[in-house]
Amino acid sequence: MDVLVEGNRLPSIAGIFHEREIPYTVAVADVNAIIEYQQASLAKAFCKSSCIMDWTKYHRLETINKLLEDLVVLFPDRCSIHGIGSSAEGREMIVLRISNGKTSNDGVWIDGAIHPREWISPAVVAYIADCLARTFDKQPEYITNKDWYFLPILNPDGYEYTHTSDRMWRKNRAHYGQCVGVDLNRNFSCGWGENGEEGSSSDPGNCFYRGPEPFSEPETKAVRRAIMEANTTFKVFLSLHSYGEVIIFPWGYTEDPCSDYVELLEGGTAMAKAINKTSGRIYKVGSTKDLMYYAAGTSIDWSYGVANIPYSYMVELRDKKNRFLLPAEEILETSLEIFNGVLNLMKFVDKRNKGTQAGSKSKAALVVTSSPV
Ligand SMILES: [Zn+2]
Repeated sequence: MDVLVEGNRLPSIAGIFHEREIPYTVAVADVNAIIEYQQASLAKAFCKSSCIMDWTKYHRLETINKLLEDLVVLFPDRCSIHGIGSSAEGREMIVLRISNGKTSNDGVWIDGAIHPREWISPAVVAYIADCLARTFDKQPEYITNKDWYFLPILNPDGYEYTHTSDRMWRKNRAHYGQCVGVDLNRNFSCGWGENGEEGSSSDPGNCFYRGPEPFSEPETKAVRRAIMEANTTFKVFLSLHSYGEVIIFPWGYTEDPCSDYVELLEGGTAMAKAINKTSGRIYKVGSTKDLMYYAAGTSIDWSYGVANIPYSYMVELRDKKNRFLLPAEEILETSLEIFNGVLNLMKFVDKRNKGTQAGSKSKAALVVTSSPV
């Protein structure tokens, strides 16, 4: 558990832990100093230009969306942008689609910033979209036979709020009485509200508030509509978060393993291997509950359990030391390792599809029926 403590109260809090023999470490000695440093470099970047994208700093919503528009201008044969809905405060949610237009393609969904304080996630989604758009015609078939959907900023209101008001904001900006915000990654329908206050919260003032009902929020509704109404069959759903350096898959609402547990473990391992080869980092692989905690109503439990997207993963990016405040100097390296991880997952998925034609679920059925026991 992370506890944020006012600087002058640190000695007394440390004393309380010490007295009760609760082990602790001071992870970040001065959170404000890091926030101020990052804001200063952001302000400098904005003075020079408000619309030039690079990978040396964290960018605002406008700049990231401008990148998506620029890619359509540069590569109109493969790129298109789609407004999939509006946020609680009326900001447009924009998806970039990259595709060669073949009807036999499988769909791949990648989103970021469902939790806005996790700034590295939209940066990595934007990087992968940019890289793929620029190199698409040189990529192998297991990349080009996919329809790619990128939503770098799933929670635009929250993301802007982390830039203007509260760097540590986690929820969207919908109003519920005196309180603000729903944790969008607890607002999806699969297992919504399970495990009581451990899996999510019914309290609008809590940072894990699940909302009054599943899909109560315009942002989660927009994602559901975009996936269910797309004329693509999605095979892969990736939601990028930070921090933890883990690749996790369903379930989060229960400790039971999902029916494709072993298959998802292997797909996640394909990603983790490529990451390790790129940067030496080790991302652990496992189910949400096993590696993290109960999380009920997550987007990946829904994408796997309801939308039937077999390879559904949450990737918790870097890092364990700086937590949500990953230095901008690490954007590029993190993006590269995840890009390679995603490419290798596609290779794995295609290999599996060729073996079974219909994917992991029918393969499991085949094994059962052919068993002589
Ligand atoms: Zn998150």
